[in-house]
Amino acid sequence: MNDKQILSHMNELIDQITHHNYNYYSLDTPTISDAEWDKLYDELMNLEKISGTVLSNSPTKRVGGDILTGFKKHTHKINLYSLNKCTNFKELEEWVNDIKEKVSDAKFSLEHKYDGLTISLTYKNGKLLTAATRGNGSIGENVTEQVKTIKTVPLKIDFEGELIVQGEGIMSLSNLKKYNKTATDPLKNARNAVAGAIRNLDPKVTATRNLDVIVYTISYIEGKNFVSQQEEYEFLKQNRFLVAKEFNLYSDFKSIKKQVELIGKNKGELDILTDGVVLKLNDIAERTDLGYTAKFPRWAIAYKFAAEELSTKLKDVVWQVGRTGKITPIAILEPVELAGATVRRATLNNYGDILRKQIKTHSYVFVRRSNEVIPEILGVARLTPQSTDIQKPIHCPSCGSILVEDGANLFCRNFYDCEEQIKDRITHFASRDAMNIEGLSGKTVEAMYEKLRVKSVSDLYQLTKEELLKLEGFKDKKATKIIKAIEISKTPEFNKFIYSLGISGIGTKASKDLAKKFKNLNNLMFATKEELLSLHDVGTIMADNIIEFFKNPVSDWLINDLKFSGIVIKEEEETGHSKALWGKKIVLTGTLENFGRKELTEMLEKMGANVTSTVSKNTDFIVAGENAGSKLTKAKELNVKVYTEKEFIEKLKELKSK
Ligand code: AMP
Ligand code: ZN
Repeated sequence: MNDKQILSHMNELIDQITHHNYNYYSLDTPTISDAEWDKLYDELMNLEKISGTVLSNSPTKRVGGDILTGFKKHTHKINLYSLNKCTNFKELEEWVNDIKEKVSDAKFSLEHKYDGLTISLTYKNGKLLTAATRGNGSIGENVTEQVKTIKTVPLKIDFEGELIVQGEGIMSLSNLKKYNKTATDPLKNARNAVAGAIRNLDPKVTATRNLDVIVYTISYIEGKNFVSQQEEYEFLKQNRFLVAKEFNLYSDFKSIKKQVELIGKNKGELDILTDGVVLKLNDIAERTDLGYTAKFPRWAIAYKFAAEELSTKLKDVVWQVGRTGKITPIAILEPVELAGATVRRATLNNYGDILRKQIKTHSYVFVRRSNEVIPEILGVARLTPQSTDIQKPIHCPSCGSILVEDGANLFCRNFYDCEEQIKDRITHFASRDAMNIEGLSGKTVEAMYEKLRVKSVSDLYQLTKEELLKLEGFKDKKATKIIKAIEISKTPEFNKFIYSLGISGIGTKASKDLAKKFKNLNNLMFATKEELLSLHDVGTIMADNIIEFFKNPVSDWLINDLKFSGIVIKEEEETGHSKALWGKKIVLTGTLENFGRKELTEMLEKMGANVTSTVSKNTDFIVAGENAGSKLTKAKELNVKVYTEKEFIEKLKELKSK
C-alpha cells in the first residue's frame, strides 16, 4: 500500500469503528462482536504506527465512546485507562520478561477480566458522592442514582478522606437467567444487560437487574499510601467493597501460564461473564515508576481468551431430518474462527426459533460456540438489503413426505421409510454412549446403507468382512476392526441399550434412570404410564413416547431381530458394583486431576449415586477439584459437605472395601 492508500483505508476504518461505537455505547445495540471490533481497532492502530499519522477523528485518541445527552457529565479527577492486551502466551511471556528486566523481584496478581461496564466511585467524608462511567476516559456520565441501587456498592464507608475506586459493574449469570425467566423482553447477554441497566435514565430499571460492582483499583486516596495491591484489597474489604475472593501472587512465568490455562478451562463454571484474565504488578511503588502510556498502564496486561461469540453472514438455511423425524434448520455461515475452530454451520433449533429470533438469510447473525457444544445462532446483528425471510418447508428434504407441525417443530412421520432418518438412527445406535461400535461413523453408515443395504440396526449384525471390503477405503485391517467392534457391542449394559433405541426425548440420563428402575427390557416394555411417571425426571411427553415406541409392532420386530442377532443385554443387577452411594446426591466441580468428569460420573452412578450439576440444600456432598468456582461457594454457604479430590479418593477406597 502506498501512503495515499493507507490514508484512505484509515479513514474507512475510522468510519466503521465510529459507526459501531455509536451503536454499542450510545444505543446499546451492538452491531458487531467485540472480537471483530478489536480487529478493526488493531488494524487502525497498526496503520497509524506504519504511517506515523493519527487522524484528528481517530477513535484511538480516546478510550471509550460517545456520551448520552440525557446524563450529566462527570470529569474524572484521575483518567480511567484501558488495558494493554495480548492473546497468546508468547506475547504474555515477553511482557512478563520486559517487566522483570526493570523490576528484578516482580510479583504479579492474577484476576478475572470481568466483562461488564467500568464504574468509578468517589467517596468523601465516608459517603458515596458520585458514580460515573468511563466515557472517553477523562469525561464520563454521572450515574450516581443508578449505581446507588446496586447492593454491593457501599453507600457509607469507614474511611473519611477522599477516595476514588474503579470497578466493574456486572450482572451475574444466575441473576440474568432469573431475570429472563419472567421478562417480556429477554436480555441478550450479561454485558449488554449491565450497560442497559446502568446507562438507563430510570434508576428503578437498574434496581430490577440485581447488579454487582467488583472493585479492582484504588485510583486515588487522600493521605494514605499502600505498599501493594494486596494491601489495597485488604483496605477495600474492610470498607465493605466487593473485591475478588481470591488473591494470589505469582512470580515465574511457568506458574502464571499454568494458572491462566486453568482459569480458561474452568471459566464456563463461573457465575460471571469474563473474557480473559488480568495480570498486574503487585508493588505500588514499582507501578508508579513504570507509569502509563497514553492509553494504558505499563504495569498490567489483559490476556484475552479466544472469542466464543462473533457475528458472521448467514448465507443459507438447509433442513435436516434426524432419527426421530424432527426437522432441524441448519444455518450455512460464512466461515469464522470461534474458540479455536472454524465454524461453517450452526443450529437454528427449529422453525419456531427462526420466527422468534426473526432470522433472515443474507443477514449478519451472532454465533456462539463454547467447548464441545454445537454452535448456535443467538440473534440477528444486522440485516442487509438482500435479507429475505426463511421459508417454512412443506416436504421432507429426504423422502418428500408432507411435514407435520407439532409445537415449534416440524416432523417427517415416514418413520420407517425415510432414508435420512434411518441412517441417523443407525449412527445413533452405534455412537459412544449407545452401543459404542467404534469406527462406525456417519460416513460409513451412509456407505453401508447405499452399497450393502444396511437398512436397520439389526442388519449390522449380519455384515461380513467380505462385504465390508467392497466399500471404498476399506482394507483388511479396517474391516476386521469394525467386525470386531460390532461383535463386542453384543453385550450392552441395559441403560446403553435403552439409549441406543433412540426413543424421542430419551437421553443418557433418562436411560440410566429407566434401567435402574426397571432392571430389564421386559419390565420396561410393559411399564405403565404411572410407573414411568414415578421417575423424577420423566415427564408426560417422555412417558408417552416410551409407551408409543413399545406399542409399535415394528419395535417388536426390531427387538426380536436384535435378540436373534445375538444381543444379550446385561441386566441392571448384573453390573455387580457396590451400591454404597445409593440415592446420594453428589455434585462435581473444578478440575479433577485423577479422573475425567464423565468417567467419575459413570462410576458414581454405578454405585447408585445421583450426580447433578447444581448445588442445593439436598446435595449430600460435593467433590471440589482445583479452581472450583461458584458451586464450591454455594456448598459452603449451604453447609454442604465438601471433599477435596484427595479426600474423596480415600473415601472411595473405604467404600469399595465395604
Ligand atoms: P478494555 O475495555 O477491553 O480496554 O479493558 C479495560 C477494561 O477492563 C477496564 O476499563 C475495566 O473495565 C475492565 N476490567 C475488567 N476486569 C478488570 C480487572 N480485574 N482489572 C482491571 N480492569 C478490568
Ligand atoms: Zn422423510
